[in-house]
Parts: sequence; C-alpha cells; structure tokens
Amino acid sequence: MQKRALVVGLGIAGMSAAIGLRRAGWTPVIVERAPERRTWGYYIFMFQEGLQAAADLGIADHLHTRNPEWRPGGNSWTVDRRGRRKPALGLLDAPSGLASVLRSDIEAALWQGIAGDGAEDAVEVRFATTPVEITEGAGGVQVLLEDAGAGKRYREDFDLVVGADGMRSSVRRMVFGPDEDHLVNWKAMICAFQLKEQVPSYEASDSILVARPKRAVWVFGLADHAPCAWLTYRTEDVPDRFAGSAIEQLRAVFAGMDDNPVVRHVLDSLEEAPDHVFDSIHQVKMPRWSTARVVLVGDAAWCMNTYSAMGSSSSLRGGAALGVALQEHPDDLAAALDAYETGLRPYITRQQRSARVKQQRFVPSSRPVEVLGSVVLELIRKVVHRRMTAEYTASSAPAAPSGTGR
Ligand SMILES: Cc1cc2nc3c(=O)[nH]c(=O)nc-3n(C[C@H](O)[C@H](O)[C@H](O)COP(=O)(O)OP(=O)(O)OC[C@H]3O[C@@H](n4cnc5c(N)ncnc54)[C@H](O)[C@@H]3O)c2cc1C
Repeated sequence: MQKRALVVGLGIAGMSAAIGLRRAGWTPVIVERAPERRTWGYYIFMFQEGLQAAADLGIADHLHTRNPEWRPGGNSWTVDRRGRRKPALGLLDAPSGLASVLRSDIEAALWQGIAGDGAEDAVEVRFATTPVEITEGAGGVQVLLEDAGAGKRYREDFDLVVGADGMRSSVRRMVFGPDEDHLVNWKAMICAFQLKEQVPSYEASDSILVARPKRAVWVFGLADHAPCAWLTYRTEDVPDRFAGSAIEQLRAVFAGMDDNPVVRHVLDSLEEAPDHVFDSIHQVKMPRWSTARVVLVGDAAWCMNTYSAMGSSSSLRGGAALGVALQEHPDDLAAALDAYETGLRPYITRQQRSARVKQQRFVPSSRPVEVLGSVVLELIRKVVHRRMTAEYTASSAPAAPSGTGR
C-alpha cells in the first residue's frame, strides 16, 4: 500500500515537497489554512539552485520568468542625496542563470505540477484546513485536523507529516517547541508590494535603489509586469511595529527621505496597493528538522529571510531533496530523514551565514557601510557593464555573410 503524507501549507515548500513525495511513490495530501489558493506575489530573485530544483521537480517549463532585457548603460539606478541618479549594478548583472519572477509565478508553476497528468495523479488539496494536534506513534502519526469551512474536527492517520507552513509554522510549534526557541530576530522590517506604475521618468523595466543608513527603498523592474517595491528598515523595537497601519508606520520611518520622488512615489503607491506584506525579519535556526515522523521544509525549517534572496530557491530544493531521500530509502524512513538532513544542511548553513553580508547590500547599517558598499559596487559595475556592453554589441552586430560570396 502507498504511504500517505500530510503536507501542511500550500506555499512553495509544501507544493515542492508534495511533488517530491509523489515522485517517491508516496500519496501526499496538502492542507492549507487559507480558503483558496493565493495568486498574489511580491518580487522574487531566483538563483541557479532554485531554477535547477524547478527542473528537477519537472516544473521548469511552467515557470514564467520576467527578466528585463539588458541595455547598454544598464537598467538599474541608485539615487544619491541630491536626487541625482547614477547607473548601478543590477541584481541580474551577473553570470547567467538568475531569474526575476513574482512569488505567484513559482506557485502557479508548482500548482500545475501538483495537478499532474490527470485526476489520478493530482495531489489532493484541502483548503481552510489546519492541524490542531499531532501525535506520533511507532506505526504512524495521527493528526487532529480542523476544517474551518465545514466547522468540524476529525482525526486522520498518516505515515509522515511535512510541516511547510512558513516562518511562523504551527507544526514546528506543536512538535519542536515555541517560536522563541527557533526564531532569531533580525531587528528589521520589510514591506513588499506591486506598484501600479513605474516611478515617473524611468523606463518601465528599470530597477531603482534609494539607500540610506538603516532605511532603503527598492523598485524592481520586470519585463512584462509593473515593477514591485520594497520598503525595508532596521529597528530596535520590532514588536511595536505591528501597532497601527503599515502605511502610517512607513511614512514615519521614511520621513526625511520622502522629498525624493522615488520614495514619494513608492509610499503613495502603497496607499492604493490592493495587497502587500508587512512583516518583521527573522531567521529560523534548528538543530534538527525532523523527528521520527514529522519533518519540516522551507521557511518552517530554515527561513533564511528576505535579505538572503534564497528562500524560494531553498524551498524548491528542500522539497526536491526530501523526495529524493524518500525514494532512495523506500523502506527506512529514519534513514531517509537523515539523508535529507545531512544532504541539505551544509548548503542551508552557508546561505544563512551569507544573508548577513547580503543585508548590507539591501539596507546598509551605517553611513560608512553605505559609502564603502557604493564604492565597491561601482568598481564591480564598471567591469561587469564593460563586459555586458561588449556582449550586447557583439550579439546585435549584423551577422557576417556566410561563405566566400561572389
Ligand atoms: C518581501 C519578501 C521578499 C522575498 N524575496 C525573495 C527573493 O528575492 N528570493 C527568494 O528566493 N526568496 C525570497 N523571499 C522568501 C520566499 O518568499 C520564502 O522563503 C518562500 O516563499 C517560503 O515558502 P514556504 O512555502 O516555506 O512558506 P510560505 O510562503 O510562508 O507558505 C506557507 C503556507 O502555509 C500556509 N499555512 C500557514 N499556517 C498554516 C496552518 N497552520 N495550516 C495550514 N496551512 C498553513 C500559509 O497560508 C501558506 O500558504 C522573500 C520573502 C519576502 C517576505
């Protein structure tokens, strides 16, 4: 009989894990707290590892990417204190294999993946459903589930529970202990949303950065979609940041920068944005991601946070890795969970460490760091843009006539 797994969470990690489990011959069932699938998403920068994992999961063909076409001079800008714009090193100005997407692009591709080749293959998804109690036994794991739509609770047996319910995971709380044991507070906040239109006087696909010590505004240009924005800042008093509306707090934090037209446009756009996320920034650190029959994946297990720009890539990779481990150890769950853990942990640890350095790029901690960072990035930009300009010129030159001609 096929083994059954309960996957908690219909995000990138949950759907990736479900595809991995199905490939390993398991029957996954996904429960999702929300009443329906979310289709909104903020800007996501994907690394090669994430794109490779998407290919491993068989969803690469469904993944819509939105990299703007590079043009000589670049399409990324910084704006200095006097309001002057200067060319900047863009996030995509690096060796190939990076992608700009919306989170909803990744989730839409995974959604097609879990639908499979037909009804028989499709992963069962139960909306408005959450686990309330998880009880592990020698022969299986029993879960008390709550269906908010039907207003009922019921018990169901599984061979494995996969917690993929995000940074504030309830599976982690129920099985591994309270958030205080695992959430590391980075004393920073992020607000992310989609702009209705680009900042006036910039090209539609331009990216723009206005960074000052402890505060930064980013606009991420996309090829075929209005840009997305981030407002991010460092703060000592995170808990207080949830009192009052996001826009009121952000206007107060960015006061003094709002004479800059980019900052003004972004703050004004937030007032009209139909969706946004406004949240504190943390990492999740755990000595182990599994017990005998419960395993965590994605932000629930190792949230690297926004500044790492690795959360979605590692969630895809985590789901794929779990599937491979279960496939390679079909009759030994303990060995499979060990293999999942030991295979993935060095990569996750490396990425979690590098997030501190990347944070300085996204929001400098002080004026000296801001100045030093801009000098270093400008040196890199000059080299990179020289190479990219040469490649651009070579690729747009008329093709040489073939043959000797007469
Ligand atoms: C502003 C911002 C920018 C980011 N930028 C990048 C980037 O550039 N590059 C990158 O790689 N990553 C980025 N990330 C991180 C990336 O989005 C996450 O790491 C990734 O989406 C995590 O996916 P997940 O499935 O683990 O968790 P989530 O996306 O949090 O999904 C969890 C799912 O579980 C559901 N759920 C929660 N609780 C329950 C429950 N009790 N029962 C049932 N269901 C439940 C939720 O409704 C949700 O559907 C960014 C994140 C943010 C916030």
